[in-house]
Amino acid sequence: RRPIPSFRCTLAGGVTTVPILTELKMKCATPLPLLQRIADAMTSDMRAGLAADNGSDLKMILSYVDSLPTGNEKGLFYALDLGGTNFRVVRVQLGGKQNNVSIPRELMQGTTEELFNFIASKLANFAAKESGKFQLPKGRMREIGFTFSFPIKQTSIDSGILIKWTKGFAVLGTAGKDVVACLKEAMQRQGLDMSVSALVNDSVATLAGAKYWDDDVLIAVILGTGTNACYIERKDAIPKLQWPAGGTRNMIISTEWGAFTTDLPLTEFDKDMDSESINPGEQIFEKTISGMYLGEIVRRVLLKMASFSSLFGDSIPEKLLIPTPDLCAMQQDDTKDLSKVEEILSNTIGATRSTLKARKIVVDICDTIVKRGGRLAGAGIVGILQKMEQDSKGLISGKRTVVAMDGGLYEHYPQYRNYLKDAVAELLGAEVSKNIVIEHTKDGSGIGAALLAAANSKYASEFQI
Ligand code: BGC
Ligand code: MG
Repeated sequence: RRPIPSFRCTLAGGVTTVPILTELKMKCATPLPLLQRIADAMTSDMRAGLAADNGSDLKMILSYVDSLPTGNEKGLFYALDLGGTNFRVVRVQLGGKQNNVSIPRELMQGTTEELFNFIASKLANFAAKESGKFQLPKGRMREIGFTFSFPIKQTSIDSGILIKWTKGFAVLGTAGKDVVACLKEAMQRQGLDMSVSALVNDSVATLAGAKYWDDDVLIAVILGTGTNACYIERKDAIPKLQWPAGGTRNMIISTEWGAFTTDLPLTEFDKDMDSESINPGEQIFEKTISGMYLGEIVRRVLLKMASFSSLFGDSIPEKLLIPTPDLCAMQQDDTKDLSKVEEILSNTIGATRSTLKARKIVVDICDTIVKRGGRLAGAGIVGILQKMEQDSKGLISGKRTVVAMDGGLYEHYPQYRNYLKDAVAELLGAEVSKNIVIEHTKDGSGIGAALLAAANSKYASEFQI
């Protein structure tokens, strides 16, 4: 058996899977009082972050989105969407079209110029193919809504400085720079004549896209590779906002809740994963609840069980020693003998002869991690609802309120979705929670960004949110 030094010193001797699993479940437990403490901490962190820059773990980013589309916009708009895994260009007009491109791994850790050259060249290709088909009125530039799914300090609707990369991105030299300026320079290098009318976070774009269809949407949450939530805030409840008199009443605030930390139930596996990550000490909530990390936590638990209690027989499956994608998918197996789990274990980590008992333990581990993630995300949502209700009595209570959800984790994991919804219902109670609609809005962010470009176009008139 291959020795795993960091485990050996703490756990020599005949450890069986049972205590490891029991301890994991105990450490990952999310009883109601804990969830309530977390929701309350989320609420007060939000308030502190609105009061001052660096007032809390939550950056509470001003989006400068204070006008949303009404549905009367006309014309052709583009959306650029740089997220966690994919990058895409969308043209939005009736029957809009889109082009998805996955982001080459090496670009995630290359230079700023390489990344933005790549984006601009894909945009140029797309625009060239489309340009014959769609004519803009004379003298009117093509406008883009740029969805940039990383923490940005915004100074206006169409500019913003990257605070830091998240989700495995580590592009050199971008932090501290205006990403719109980076894009503009790259477009110039491509000879591409387009202008950025709106720079938006994916959660903000999702809120805009969802609200376009349903006016009761007040919150949007992304649960994909990474996580974030945004909501509609009253400008007079944002002490740090320096805003010229007049204008509209509300603004979307992007909480950047991925950086939340208070009272999170963390295990040794979380701590080790964090310290070995590209951004140690950062995005702890994100690392506990979002898609990029859940499978990795499971892998670490399995590795410990394989090493100390022979979960997969006498040897440790080779591939369990390195990150493996999507281990939580095993939880979706509804066959009696867990044959899909067997298949995944064999394909991904090379554990070819697992016993049924081992497979049941594996599913139990996935469930423990997914459950903790879903319930914590639910507590976060309740934290936002509480903040909104406390500051604007009657805003939420008694009214239909929609939380627009997007992201691959939310979309593809029914168990996660259910745990999230259960936690929200438990925290709010039946009476309140029956008015809270938690709803998947697919692809709101592409459409939302283009609509925000339209709403903030210098050619458009003013809209209110
Ligand atoms: C980023 C957010 C983003 C979220 C979801 C996080 O890692 O910090 O800006 O909204 O991922 O994509
Ligand atoms: Mg995305």
